[in-house]
Amino acid sequence: MGMKRRPEALEAAEHDLLIIGGGITGACLAFDAATRGMKVALIERDDFGGATSASSSKLLHGGIRYLQQLRFGKARESARERLFFQNLAPHLTYYLPFVVPTFRGLARGKPVLTAGMVLYETLCIGQTDLLLDRAQGVPPGRGLSVEDVTAMIPGISGDGLTGGRLFHESHMVNSERMTLAFVEGAAVNGADVANYVRADDFLRQGERVVGVKATDTESGQGLIIRARVVVNAAGPWIRTLNEQLGLGSVGRVVTGFSRGAHMVTKPLTDGYAVALPTKRRAESVLDRGGRHVFIIPWRGHSLIGTSYRPHEGPLENMSPTPDEIGDLIGDINAALGDDTLTPADVRYAFAGLYPLTAEEIDSRVYQGSADYQVLDHGADDGIPGLFTVFGAKFTTARLLAERAIDRIAPKLEGEWRDCQTRGVALPSAPSAGDRIEAGVVSEPMAGDLLVNYGSHAAAVASLASEDTALTAELGANRGAWGVDAVWAVREEMAQHLEDVVFRRTGLGTLGNPGEEVLRAVAELMAADLGWDAAKVASEVKATLERFP
Ligand SMILES: Cc1cc2nc3c(=O)[nH]c(=O)nc-3n(C[C@H](O)[C@H](O)[C@H](O)COP(=O)(O)OP(=O)(O)OC[C@H]3O[C@@H](n4cnc5c(N)ncnc54)[C@H](O)[C@@H]3O)c2cc1C
Repeated sequence: MGMKRRPEALEAAEHDLLIIGGGITGACLAFDAATRGMKVALIERDDFGGATSASSSKLLHGGIRYLQQLRFGKARESARERLFFQNLAPHLTYYLPFVVPTFRGLARGKPVLTAGMVLYETLCIGQTDLLLDRAQGVPPGRGLSVEDVTAMIPGISGDGLTGGRLFHESHMVNSERMTLAFVEGAAVNGADVANYVRADDFLRQGERVVGVKATDTESGQGLIIRARVVVNAAGPWIRTLNEQLGLGSVGRVVTGFSRGAHMVTKPLTDGYAVALPTKRRAESVLDRGGRHVFIIPWRGHSLIGTSYRPHEGPLENMSPTPDEIGDLIGDINAALGDDTLTPADVRYAFAGLYPLTAEEIDSRVYQGSADYQVLDHGADDGIPGLFTVFGAKFTTARLLAERAIDRIAPKLEGEWRDCQTRGVALPSAPSAGDRIEAGVVSEPMAGDLLVNYGSHAAAVASLASEDTALTAELGANRGAWGVDAVWAVREEMAQHLEDVVFRRTGLGTLGNPGEEVLRAVAELMAADLGWDAAKVASEVKATLERFP
């Protein structure tokens, strides 16, 4: 159980596979390869899962919108993959009831939607058999009357409304912890994994790539990491890395970026997610000529997204602009009434990048083709030993990893198992007997620990016996507790206050919890990380700067 950060181990071993990038794509690749028996290294220049993988709507999409594009295989693929995520990490996923309202006199009205949903349900027949726990299948959908929709979605105008449809999507409590759960799965299966290790350049032997020169950005130490195959899974930064080999414009990889913003607001609906039509252009089955915006109930708030804009300039430090937030507020107020939201209702906001390829549709209306790619630069460009793996959706990251490792395995001499990730659970997945003994911690705290840590929950709770102060709640109703900070440092490689505040817990993703709370968390981390008062203060300052 647990992960220790040991950058020196990256240099010591001869790895079969080195993966650059610890987002969900790199994490799934590492878990897949390690469970086949390969010796794996995974490096992430910042913190695991902190870039695009933290900026999503956190949906494990069933893929209904691919029906509009008549991509039935893609819809079935996404629907199946969300079930594998459920097998792998049942504690981090749950089914969310989703309402899609329909309107009179438009091509994409009730009959089209009903037919689409029936077709979709037909495509998904038999998929429940893929679940380790078949009792947890996708709940059935149903048609909704006008009265149903107006009761479920406060503020929606009855004008032109003809009813709607209810279906269920899989949602993640914490997508950052989902990524981390795969990283842990890789580590438990022998992978050397480290955050805050940046790949700077490729190591070459003739044309062949044989590893990377890297930097441990915590110590400043240079590292030479050798591997028989290197995989570039650096998401939006794939192109920057490959350009060092003259590979920037080769293949279909990344020709531009579109950015997507989300905001977290006061709760607007009571338990139901909704896809609301907007006046913006789109390519989707769920709207009435315009793109739709989602309101998703999330941790007692509403998670609202996505606004799309073309992106120019640096790829770092993405934070939503006032215009992006204004777009989202405008969309919501147009659909639910002028006074529904003001900027003061926005608790937190974040943005991420969709890398676009030459074949993608216009970035102004980007809805994503969800086409992942695996490029073998040995076969395509005469640079053996290097693959690029380009993820397009969180939902299909496991499948992408399976396909990529299927292609890479024959290049590596050795006896490798077939892909193991379809019917297994990650180490943190809870099993039937897992529970926290009554009285160890309070009931709400036990509930949060079981969701966040699954099979490790009892071990996390046991930290409280060391120091009862660790049962203190961090911020109000954010699901974060003192034990989280200590566990994050000891067992989950948290190096900075931001790692705990934004990724190991959801303390910061519901908005600024206040300087006092941040200082208390930094002080909990300080003992294990050897921080002095000045370091505590600088960590608090850096974290405060992340909030508007
Ligand atoms: C607004 C938005 C909403 C979305 N919503 C959904 C959704 O609801 N459902 C869904 O399925 N998908 C969704 N997606 C898509 C999904 O989030 C992405 O496809 C996925 O997160 C990509 O993961 P990745 O690992 O490929 O990239 P990233 O998460 O960006 O990971 C790449 C990593 O590489 C690291 N890196 C870069 N350079 C180096 C280097 N030199 N050395 C070491 N490491 C390096 C980066 O720090 C980064 O952590 C959404 C995307 C966006 C932008």
